[in-house]
Amino acid sequence: MRLDILTLFPEMFSSLEHSIVGRAQNSGKINVNFHNFRDFATNSQKHVDDMPYGGGQGMLLMPQPIFDTLASFPHEKARVLMMDPAGRRFDQKFAEELAKEEQLVFLCGHYEGFDERIKTLVTDEVSLGDYVLTGGEVAACVMIDATVRLIPDVLGKKASHEDDSFSSGLLEYPQYTRPEEFRGLKVPEVLMSGHHENIRKWRLSESLRKTLRLRPDLLEKYELTDEERKILTT
Ligand code: SAM
Repeated sequence: MRLDILTLFPEMFSSLEHSIVGRAQNSGKINVNFHNFRDFATNSQKHVDDMPYGGGQGMLLMPQPIFDTLASFPHEKARVLMMDPAGRRFDQKFAEELAKEEQLVFLCGHYEGFDERIKTLVTDEVSLGDYVLTGGEVAACVMIDATVRLIPDVLGKKASHEDDSFSSGLLEYPQYTRPEEFRGLKVPEVLMSGHHENIRKWRLSESLRKTLRLRPDLLEKYELTDEERKILTT
């Protein structure tokens, strides 16, 4: 997958050099390109922002540097994602959708945001959540991290995302590792029984109960199987 990031602060993406996303870069599963749109400003002071027409606080990003930056690399089939608190809320389903694309372009705003005409360039306006960040870089990092781990073979054989919270529509069941007992806290016996069917049932039951307790809104959108309905009603 090719990733193109339009930003004034490429150094804010150093987190992508580490861990799983870093390895995905090193193994060539993703190819990350940064474009500082200040380099495309045509005015002598290299300004990329100006005051809003009609008055108001703060500065807006001007169209010219962003239009010219986007025209400088191929992106005909790309999803062009504008980081915008007013956009579609980013979630696991959206990450799954993006992980199937060949190229993603991230437009990171700053200051008071974008001149409205820049929206003619984008395929999606995307928000990380209902709050306002100082810039789109942190939002883009989160979206890239959540998306890249879903690209086939990025997580490797030892890890899988299929049981992760939200992948199935439910929260993930509780997990334990060694030791069997820590400061009086024991691992549930069923997990050490080696009985695969009982372990499956226990995990399903825990997953359903945890979702009901912490995120009942997820269950409203979830289609229960007969087995799951039975678990929740007993
Ligand atoms: N004036 C804008 C508004 O009220 O919607 C907020 C501008 S914000 C200070 C600057 C930039 O940060 C935005 O253009 C966007 O790129 C990014 N940003 C801020 N909050 C975000 C969020 N929740 N999700 C995605 N991007 C965000």
